[in-house]
Amino acid sequence: MRIHHLNCGCMCPIGGALFDGFSRGLTSHLVCHCLLIETNQGLVLVDTGFGLRDIQAPRSRLSPFFIAFNNIQFDRQYSAIDQIERLGFSPEEVRHIILTHLDFDHAGGLEDFPNATVHVMQTEIEATRDRQGFIAHRRYRPGQWDEVKSWKFYAANGESWFGFEAVRDLEGLPPEILFIPLTGHTRGHAGVAIETSEGWLLHAGDAYFYRDEMKPEYHCTPGLKAYQWMMEVDRKARLLNQDRLRQLTLSNDAKLFCSHDAIEFKAYAEQSANENRSSSSVSGRS
Ligand SMILES: [Zn+2]
Repeated sequence: MRIHHLNCGCMCPIGGALFDGFSRGLTSHLVCHCLLIETNQGLVLVDTGFGLRDIQAPRSRLSPFFIAFNNIQFDRQYSAIDQIERLGFSPEEVRHIILTHLDFDHAGGLEDFPNATVHVMQTEIEATRDRQGFIAHRRYRPGQWDEVKSWKFYAANGESWFGFEAVRDLEGLPPEILFIPLTGHTRGHAGVAIETSEGWLLHAGDAYFYRDEMKPEYHCTPGLKAYQWMMEVDRKARLLNQDRLRQLTLSNDAKLFCSHDAIEFKAYAEQSANENRSSSSVSGRS
C-alpha cells in the first residue's frame, strides 16, 4: 500500500497564531488533511475536504457562517480530484471513500467520485438527519452527498485496537484499514487506522486540532480551543478520547495526525513524498 497525504482545503480564520500557533499575520493557516491510498482494491480516499461543486458555488453548498468564520479559500488546486489527476490517476479509479465524519470540510468532495462506495459510521449518518440547532444545521450539508449511490454504514462490534473499539473488515477494503470510533466532535466521528509496513498510522480526524494537544504537556491555542468547544457534541467523550490518543502516541503503538494542523500535514506530506519517490525509483514506476 502506498499512501499519499493530500491537503484538500485551506481555511484561514482571522486570528493568526492564536489559531495555528505559527502565522505572523492576521490570518491563520489550517489544512484539510486527507489520504489517498493505493491498494489492490483500487484507490481509497480518506476524507475529501472541499470538492469542485463547493468551489464552483460555495454559497449554495455551504453555510455563509462557516465560509466567513473559517475564511475558506476556494481554489480547485486543493480539490482531491485535481490532485489525484496530477498524481497520474483517473478519478474513476477511486473505488472507496472513508469518512471520519460528515462535516462540510470533510464531505465536500464526495460527488466528484461517483464510482466510489462511501464508508461512514451509522451514528454519523443518523446525526445528519437531526440537524437541530445553530451548529448542527450549518455543519451538515446534505447537498454534499445527496447523489452518493453506494453507502456502507458501520457500528462498533466489540473488536478492539490498542484499547480502543474498532470496526474491522470494512466491506471491499483491505484488512489493514480499520474504523476507530472517536465520538465527541460529532456523534459518529471516527478515526481511520491503517497498518503500514512501518507500523500503524491513525488519521484522527477532528478528535483534536492542534499538534501539541498530543504532547505529554498538553497545549492548544485559544482559537482552536474555542473552535473545538463550539463544534463538540459530547465534551466528556471528546476529552476522554483525546486523553486516550495522547497515551497511544506516548506508547509509540501508532503515529497519528489530525485533519487541520498545517505543521503536522507538512511533516507527513514531505516524508511520504520522499518515501514514494524512492520506492518509485526502486520499482521503476515514474
Ligand atoms: Zn474539520
